[in-house]
Amino acid sequence: MMRLPRFRYFAPRTVADAAALLAEHGRDASLVAGGTDLWPNMKRRQQTPTRVIGLRGVAPLHGVGGAADRGFDVGAMTSLTAVEHHGALGAGWPGLAAAVRLISTPPLRNMGTLGGNLCLDTRCNYWDQTLEWRKSIDFCLKRDGKVCWVAPGSERCWAVASSDTAPVLCAIGAEVTLASVDGERRIAVRDLFRDDGIEYLNKRSNEILTTIHLPAPRGWRVAYRKLRRRESFDFPVLGVAAAARIAGGVVEEARIFVTGAGSRPHDASAAAAVLVGKRLDDRDAVAEAADRAARIAKPLDNTDFALGWRKEMARHHVTAALADLA
Ligand SMILES: Cc1cc2nc3c(=O)[nH]c(=O)nc-3n(C[C@H](O)[C@H](O)[C@H](O)COP(=O)(O)OP(=O)(O)OC[C@H]3O[C@@H](n4cnc5c(N)ncnc54)[C@H](O)[C@@H]3O)c2cc1C
Ligand code: SF4
Repeated sequence: MMRLPRFRYFAPRTVADAAALLAEHGRDASLVAGGTDLWPNMKRRQQTPTRVIGLRGVAPLHGVGGAADRGFDVGAMTSLTAVEHHGALGAGWPGLAAAVRLISTPPLRNMGTLGGNLCLDTRCNYWDQTLEWRKSIDFCLKRDGKVCWVAPGSERCWAVASSDTAPVLCAIGAEVTLASVDGERRIAVRDLFRDDGIEYLNKRSNEILTTIHLPAPRGWRVAYRKLRRRESFDFPVLGVAAAARIAGGVVEEARIFVTGAGSRPHDASAAAAVLVGKRLDDRDAVAEAADRAARIAKPLDNTDFALGWRKEMARHHVTAALADLA
């Protein structure tokens, strides 16, 4: 049985108190939301904070506010189940609820939060192993080692972005608020991620993600297609989110984001551009968009399935996501 290492737990009641604790304890501390990512990682000694700051008791971080005509503010601690079943949010952005439904299992969605999902650690076959397993191959760049076992000549870590909501929220044009003892700032979700398997978030270590802001749909729709081995539950090894603003059957604006094929969700804007001014039943336009998106998807051999096949599946998943939108 894998046990948690020893740590001191803090249970602040306000964002200000949580931010003060984070500032005081610096990189010795981790935030925990639902713990469905952090606790297993700590058991595997991938992360070993000596201080853990629980956000469960911070009431303002829970719940969904707003409405479809003015946009939604979702507290970072809102559970995935609550996001999945929220009536107005589901009516405004049904594609988000559909994507959330594809995450892990109902018990994990009851515990897991939307904020935690956005901040989810990157994944890799050489990383998501027990301490003993990683020690036996002499660790890797992500922690305690000197080499990347996926690309031994590489100076960077290629661990893979694996959040299902991240590409969807990027495609929607959502934003997040980050709070710290220095104040608050608001950035686009697409700018939250960095192309680096280790420092994968553009978030300072003293910042707390407090709110996810979704714009009013105003004619936009979003769809998400996910590739995984087991349909019952599994992380995405490829995910495609496609969003479009459609009027009179014609695409006025479009965005496509591909995840599971790099350390952050890739913006396939060149693929989305092909669709503007076209109908989604225009097979040539859809095929061109799918080809372009597949070109930017550069999966490595560090998750499930053969990488060549995953790349090929990017084309199919873009086509399927656009069919869902149509
Ligand atoms: C068996 C299994 C299957 C899974 N399948 C999927 C899947 O299919 N798709 C998927 O996307 N995920 C999957 N997950 C991962 C996880 O359950 C979800 O991503 C979940 O949403 C994580 O949320 P959490 O609240 O539990 O995060 P936590 O574990 O609490 O935190 C995750 C990380 O985010 C940081 N963090 C949390 N909240 C904040 C905040 N407000 N501000 C700043 N940092 C924060 C934590 O410090 C930690 O580093 C799976 C997990 C398991 C165990
Ligand atoms: S991509 Fe390389 S450095 Fe990163 S976790 Fe995997 S083996 Fe380690």
